[in-house]
Amino acid sequence: SSLRLDVVTIFPEYLSPLDLSLIGKARRDGLLDLHVHDLRDFTHDRHRTVDDSPYGGGAGMVMKPGPWAEALEHVVAQGSAGGAEGDGDGDGAAAADSAAAGARVPTLIVPGPGGEPFTQQIARELADEAWLAFACGRYEGIDERVYEWAGERMPVRVLSLGDYVLNGGEVAVLAMVEAVARLLPGVIGNAESLVEESHEDGLLEYPVYTKPAEWDGRAVPDVLLGGNHRAIAEWRHEQRLQRTAERRPDLLPPTAVSTVLADLEER
Ligand code: SAM
Repeated sequence: SSLRLDVVTIFPEYLSPLDLSLIGKARRDGLLDLHVHDLRDFTHDRHRTVDDSPYGGGAGMVMKPGPWAEALEHVVAQGSAGGAEGDGDGDGAAAADSAAAGARVPTLIVPGPGGEPFTQQIARELADEAWLAFACGRYEGIDERVYEWAGERMPVRVLSLGDYVLNGGEVAVLAMVEAVARLLPGVIGNAESLVEESHEDGLLEYPVYTKPAEWDGRAVPDVLLGGNHRAIAEWRHEQRLQRTAERRPDLLPPTAVSTVLADLEER
């Protein structure tokens, strides 16, 4: 079975990197069933208008609710029918086998700077779902009533990539899809590489080195050349603690941060 992904955007080309590399391969292997929809296909005026000025005044434009509701209705209808027909934007073979064929509605992800922070934990939760839909906002965002409307029909999660402002949701979707897809069985060849990673267990990753053993007058730490696996594991764990205390103290209990930093100073 595969994970079905629907993305609604006014810039379908923005999602074309999902053809590349491991995600592209996962799609060709039928592990991911991606459908990209142009929001403007759900407008009915000559100019294919998706935005209008904000009630109450203020800068910028707001995305109109009507096209969003129609687009999401289309996604739900197409996906719950199995997704094998549709708008020629998916992979027929993967679609026929889509796990979403059994699910009635997707979980709707709306990227936004005011959302819950997207984390590895959330990536794991999303990787367990059969069907995800993403709504890419632009301008000053989407009319608030769309969130209410969608919430009456499907689970909705507003997720933020971080505390900064992007121009649109597309880059956030690229990041979230990549983080989720690499957790699916079969997407990453070496499953062990998933376990030993930053954020998988709440610590940052240890530093890594490859050949040559000396480069630019800089040596690889001795312990890594010695072949003593227990010593290597201990060194890596210390490095992870040290990095986390220095760069991301927010990830550690405050007492652990001071202990790690005091240990360092003693050396
Ligand atoms: N006026 C909005 C606010 O302050 O919350 C910002 C809108 S932003 C210019 C346009 C779109 O970019 C948003 O609707 C959202 O889809 C996306 N976006 C911007 N920053 C983001 C972030 N940190 N995480 C996820 N999506 C973001």
